[in-house]
Amino acid sequence: MTVLLEAKQLVRVYEARHGLWSKPTPVRAVDGVSLKVSAGETLGIVGESGSGKSTLGRVLLGIDPATEGQVLFDGKPMPALGTLAWRRLRAQMQLVFQDPLAALDRRLPIAEQIGEPLVIHGLVAKADVTERVLELMAAVGLRRDQAGRYPHELSGGQRQRVIIARALATEPRLLVCDEPVSALDVSIQAQVVNLLRDLQEKHGIAMVFISHDLKVVRNIADRVAVMYLGSIVEEASSDEIFARPLHPYTRALVSSVPIPGRKLESRIILQGEPPNPAKRPTGCAFHPRCPMAQASCRSSVPALKMLEGKRMAACHLLDLSEVPLVA
Ligand code: ADP
Ligand code: MG
Repeated sequence: MTVLLEAKQLVRVYEARHGLWSKPTPVRAVDGVSLKVSAGETLGIVGESGSGKSTLGRVLLGIDPATEGQVLFDGKPMPALGTLAWRRLRAQMQLVFQDPLAALDRRLPIAEQIGEPLVIHGLVAKADVTERVLELMAAVGLRRDQAGRYPHELSGGQRQRVIIARALATEPRLLVCDEPVSALDVSIQAQVVNLLRDLQEKHGIAMVFISHDLKVVRNIADRVAVMYLGSIVEEASSDEIFARPLHPYTRALVSSVPIPGRKLESRIILQGEPPNPAKRPTGCAFHPRCPMAQASCRSSVPALKMLEGKRMAACHLLDLSEVPLVA
């Protein structure tokens, strides 16, 4: 498969103030992320809140500039934000995020908003806009008679369908979805995830699917990257991640996903503070919360290494043969 999106050693540093009078200090929200997404493939990105997932999503699309590193789209470097070349490319890359209401204009009927990118990018003749909007609405499961509705007249799930229809209008090759169903009722979540999966398969769109919820990612991702404090600590096929997580952090995350037949006692409860890039621990960033940490974990940062020829993890303990890999 051809690589559509490639990130090389991405770093995003924010200047953040930690108190009213304190001086801003640099915070590494994304810290050396490299990844590849092939055409038509879905890469899931998981991790707790604060691990840098949203920042990574924005940097991948060029909405937020990388402090270091590079993003390649179709093998070419991403043009600078706001330039004509970037605007052209943006039609091929769309973002769907958690809060559809914030992404919609309350004063415009939804059909107009779905048609907006068609008009802006001049994708269809003016006379054909309505026809194409109705097609897009049908594709995401919205009814014709809902075309004149305003965002507040729809449910959360329907609003997210509007966002998805608008994202599809430009026939994108890449979709970055940042917690697209986290604000929806559990009963609606599966419907929207299935819709995204069907559309992605039908149109061969590459997708980066960000979520703190592993259950959701499991249903859609081909491959999963696990983030902790701005870095990828494990990456493997979705099947491998869920069947045999290797990194202690991934094991804890996966153990909290209910699986029929697995005993509840095997759940690993993570201790300690959730990741905070302003207070980065020495050595392995996960060591203060790791049930298996040893002296070396406190002093040196483990590199992301290829294991078994097909999967990656960053953990000193996986280098030691006496540590059992299967929980
Ligand atoms: P996630 O999506 O995994 O919850 P984020 O990417 O939103 O993580 O945030 C990662 C870290 O970067 C957090 O500590 C957050 O406070 C910080 N951060 C994110 N955006 C900004 C910003 N615009 N300015 C300063 N700090 C930010
Ligand atoms: Mg986020």
